[in-house]
Amino acid sequence: MMNATANNQSQQLILALSKGRIFEETQPLLEAAGITVTEDPETSRKLILPTNHDNIKVIIVRATDVPTYVQYGAADFGVAGKDVLQEHGGAGLYQPVDLHIAKCHLSVAAPKGFDYANAVRKGARLRVATKYAQAAREHFAAKGVHVDIIKLYGSIELAPLVGLSEAIVDLVSTGNTLRANDLVEVEHIADISSRLVVNQAALKLKRDILQPILDAFGRASVE
Ligand code: AMP
Repeated sequence: MMNATANNQSQQLILALSKGRIFEETQPLLEAAGITVTEDPETSRKLILPTNHDNIKVIIVRATDVPTYVQYGAADFGVAGKDVLQEHGGAGLYQPVDLHIAKCHLSVAAPKGFDYANAVRKGARLRVATKYAQAAREHFAAKGVHVDIIKLYGSIELAPLVGLSEAIVDLVSTGNTLRANDLVEVEHIADISSRLVVNQAALKLKRDILQPILDAFGRASVE
């Protein structure tokens, strides 16, 4: 539980979250720390949301921007996917804690009729479309497979359907998006979940108020 003393009331805390799954799955952890976000980001147009604590606010940013806000101290802490942190590099962030939320995996997928294994065996140079260029490059380099990475920012599953690429690297949760587009997973790259990231300076300067929240998150985020 939070220890809202007169002293730590004067310190402002900002938590960076993205809308959707991360916001929703972070709510039980916030509740465990005695924090309730009092406006719904799906209906509110506000980008700074109030909570039941005057000194704690939640900012709503794009998932890929969470580490940047925390790195520069514009937010004291945030929740970001392991995929996003890997692309960001993690500079200026305190060792992330696995919250075991927003679980999914990063995979290589290809059209149903495409013999991916055979193409790889023959050493064909594959075009791979992805948002996760860094993770994809590392994966194929480790396997010694030659690929041209085509960086996209959305609708990755479309790329092989219109001949932009032979395969994709993307996040898979239920598998519904792949199935709906006649794509199949051909390689599992990594399990992904969301992490709590904390600004290093904030952890030192605001430890009194921040540490109890981090502890509550840690206790509530059992695997
Ligand atoms: P699904 O159809 O449930 O397998 O979800 C796949 C789609 O949702 C893909 O377009 C993914 O990029 C996206 N997706 C799945 N899980 C996540 C996640 N944890 N974070 C961001 N995007 C995700």
